[in-house]
Amino acid sequence: MTTTPDFSPELIRRYDRRLPRYTSYPTAPHFSMDVDEERLAALVGDRGAADRPLSLYVHVPFCRSLCWYCGCATVISKSEEQRRSYMRLLRREIEHKAGLVDTEREVIQVHFGGGTPSDLPPDVLREIGEVLHSTFRVAPHAEEAIEIDPRDLTREHVRAMREAGFRRASIGVQDTQPRVQAAINRVQPFALVEQAFRWLREEGFESVNVDLIYGLPAQTEASIRETIQEVLTLSPSRLAVYGYAHVPGMRPAQRLLERYGIPGSEERLAMLGVIVGTLTDAGYEHIGMDHYARPDDELSVALREGTLQRNFQGYSTRGGADILGFGMSAISSIGRAYVAAPRTLDDWAQAVERDAFPAERWMVLSEDDLMRRRIIESIMCVGRPALDEVSEEFGVDPFETFARELEGLGDLEEDGLIERTPGGFRVTPRGRFLVRHVAARFDAWLEDDGRRYSAAI
Ligand code: SF4
Repeated sequence: MTTTPDFSPELIRRYDRRLPRYTSYPTAPHFSMDVDEERLAALVGDRGAADRPLSLYVHVPFCRSLCWYCGCATVISKSEEQRRSYMRLLRREIEHKAGLVDTEREVIQVHFGGGTPSDLPPDVLREIGEVLHSTFRVAPHAEEAIEIDPRDLTREHVRAMREAGFRRASIGVQDTQPRVQAAINRVQPFALVEQAFRWLREEGFESVNVDLIYGLPAQTEASIRETIQEVLTLSPSRLAVYGYAHVPGMRPAQRLLERYGIPGSEERLAMLGVIVGTLTDAGYEHIGMDHYARPDDELSVALREGTLQRNFQGYSTRGGADILGFGMSAISSIGRAYVAAPRTLDDWAQAVERDAFPAERWMVLSEDDLMRRRIIESIMCVGRPALDEVSEEFGVDPFETFARELEGLGDLEEDGLIERTPGGFRVTPRGRFLVRHVAARFDAWLEDDGRRYSAAI
């Protein structure tokens, strides 16, 4: 896929519709509460999966205060004891799940998300790293990443993270402007971000990335430009610049943002134009949707070589793995099943204490789901539907099976989002910003209920 973005405000305006981000297919709202524990145990223990690598995801839900825009599964608490007792349960969950799967399978990815995983006490960070590395066969080249909040970070935390095996970090910056920070209840002087970068690099982190958000209250085109320029002085390897999703029905605290005025779609579009222009001028490559990377970063290399993957955390260079999730609300992806852990601390803790696989919702994918998942992931990552692979893997003629979907792409073709090819089609540079619209044409579960998804811009 070419990496030069072709940003068309007119087209993006026309296609403004809420759609899934396709970090999974089918997406989480379609998981059912009807978990069959016996069938789940059989799927998890499947010895036929020995050749598939593993990816480990650990969710740490604690944050010291609530950022009002937050859409994550969090527990607001300052208690160190609560973090320590969470760790004790995590250890038990890790040991229990390790007894279910073949631990000789190679682990190619470890990711700590939250919440604020970087705020665990340093000895807890070391301990959990040690537990994972002694329980599973983590590959020497595995991608081990952690999300960082610079506000309560100490050098001791950073050392502990390195000792726990982490080499990649994503720093939650969101916006560097004091007015915006006050409006979102996340006051974070830029000096703290600079300090976090310095410590992480000095302690040997190979890749330090930044997460930003646009579409927040008090943001303007000018303030977004300033934020990006300030962040670029630190030369992050990657930037993820997400559009703020205002869903106060699901996240009541977001109503607190309404008193400052939330930018409308035209203002968001103008901000997106600034983001794309500033990052492209600075030499960053547009990986897809909200992700940008320096040309020497392995995401950019994977994009050029057509080996990019997608998982619950977004774009990745490691794929084809079963994901084992640990902690409250963590989602596992095992073979043809998705399993989501309980979304409350109590429910998750109870499941762990009775040595069950914590499962509140799940989904076992049909053959049709699996084919569509393959197609959607390929569209999102490499800009083509991988119909030849579908034919090989599933023994069907995809041109016949998906004839209706392929025929229905005429409007996308006319608008220059895709071009027909002998392999089906390819997404054009112009279509890259609207790639979700292309993928959605193959989504058999998509209901006309855009409220639960994020806006396309
Ligand atoms: S630190 Fe992150 S996870 Fe925690 S409340 Fe703020 S946005 Fe949400």
